[in-house]
Amino acid sequence: MNTENGKRQTENEIICQDDDHPREHCGIFGIYGHPDAARLTYFGLYALQHRGQESCGIITADGSRVHQHRGLGLVPEVFDQQILERLPGHLAIGHVRYSTTGSTLLINAQPFVVQHGGRTLAIGHNGNLTNAREVRCRLEEGGSIFQSSMDTEIIVHLMAHHRGASVVESLTNALEHLKGSYSLVLATADQVIAARDPLGFRPLVLGQLNGSWVAASETCALDLVEADYLREVEPGEIVVMDAAGLHSHKPFAPAPPQRCIFEFIYFARPDSQIFGKSVYQVRKRLGAALAREHPLQGDMVMPFPDSGTYAAIGYAAATGIPFEMGMIRNHYVGRTFIQPSQTMRDFSVRVKLNPVKELLKGRRVIVIEDSIIRGTTTRSRVKSLREAGAREVSMLVSCPPHRFPCYYGIDFSSKGELIAAQQETERIRDFLGLDYLGYLSLEGMVAATEMERATFCLSCFSGDYPVPLGAAFSKTCFEEDLCAPGPWEGPPVVCEMQGQKGKRGKG
Ligand code: SF4
Repeated sequence: MNTENGKRQTENEIICQDDDHPREHCGIFGIYGHPDAARLTYFGLYALQHRGQESCGIITADGSRVHQHRGLGLVPEVFDQQILERLPGHLAIGHVRYSTTGSTLLINAQPFVVQHGGRTLAIGHNGNLTNAREVRCRLEEGGSIFQSSMDTEIIVHLMAHHRGASVVESLTNALEHLKGSYSLVLATADQVIAARDPLGFRPLVLGQLNGSWVAASETCALDLVEADYLREVEPGEIVVMDAAGLHSHKPFAPAPPQRCIFEFIYFARPDSQIFGKSVYQVRKRLGAALAREHPLQGDMVMPFPDSGTYAAIGYAAATGIPFEMGMIRNHYVGRTFIQPSQTMRDFSVRVKLNPVKELLKGRRVIVIEDSIIRGTTTRSRVKSLREAGAREVSMLVSCPPHRFPCYYGIDFSSKGELIAAQQETERIRDFLGLDYLGYLSLEGMVAATEMERATFCLSCFSGDYPVPLGAAFSKTCFEEDLCAPGPWEGPPVVCEMQGQKGKRGKG
């Protein structure tokens, strides 16, 4: 049974879930040439935890042997001191996952490891392959047997078709068959490889730490391990890190990049630099752009923490209206909690964000949000502000309405999930219980990045998709098993590393 703001997990527990923001996708990290590679990867994943909270894993290698540990849960839940000590080696890759294809199963945790032709290969992927189903069907017709329901596994199957080639050659050949978004880290026994799709949808950066090389989704991971930022992995670039240093390969024809603009608005950490720009500064400029487009009268500007905070700072600075924290976030609330009694209305809203009544009473409040996906959580929060005494509640959103699904690695892949795909702004305003609702224009959003419009993917706002979609693409398309003559339910698989049972995905 679903509640308005929390999905009921058991009879007595509620999952504390914000339905008005897309869930993050995945974070990747890799390091070559450090004696404590596993520990640094642990810290790198810790910094990237906001990009995926369902599962995580670390693969290490010492030149000859590969070691691995993966599990369901947050990085500190899956790893401890003893586990890290069982992961020796001078190279490592790691992954935090929120599933954009495939369900939350241990078998779908990454990095994904295979052995083929005497070679062990591990891979971690951030993104979505939009022609995954067609390619997987072709591979299955040719006899391939898949272990997981992740699109990522297709990459290693395609690589296996080029036995004898170097890892870069077989990876290049595999990627030539694939469409969509991917930032990748791969590890063999003696190499770490970072690769980014030719359109560069998702971020990937390189750093250096006392002679060792680091790759990470965002610079906040470099900061935590004290690595110096070098540069982005360029769209279409494959970077090899090994005993001979760092080598760049650019096997694909250059194409105009299509960077995900929503990384700036919501996904990336504000202390990161992505696509060469400070996320914090871009968000402040988004707030200033909102002030130019929607100069409202009000007594205070506030975010629903932590979303919208930096755009709210920018809006307050541009208008001179005081910035206040009208709602306080409980930083210790877990992902689930015991169900309260029936008399405790809107418990799942208040347990996470509690209004400051003394600030709000009789005031005209301007809330700055970074996005509204479904609208249900926002509606409860607006109601909570009114109950705390706010006289007027207006809301400004630091991007245009999300009217189209994302197929490039973000979890809103159907129009039915998007309130702005169903309703005009006035209807959304009324549904949310607002006095005023305004969105930033597409032009205002792009200008705040101080980058060229043509370098961005804007598909979820415009409906123009730079990469065509494969047939019947969906998050769980492999579990629907359309390639096979009939559905196959695999037996439960025990993962020896973790001792947990994970049910094998169909197909
Ligand atoms: S569709 Fe939207 S969320 Fe998806 S990659 Fe493009 S800009 Fe990012």
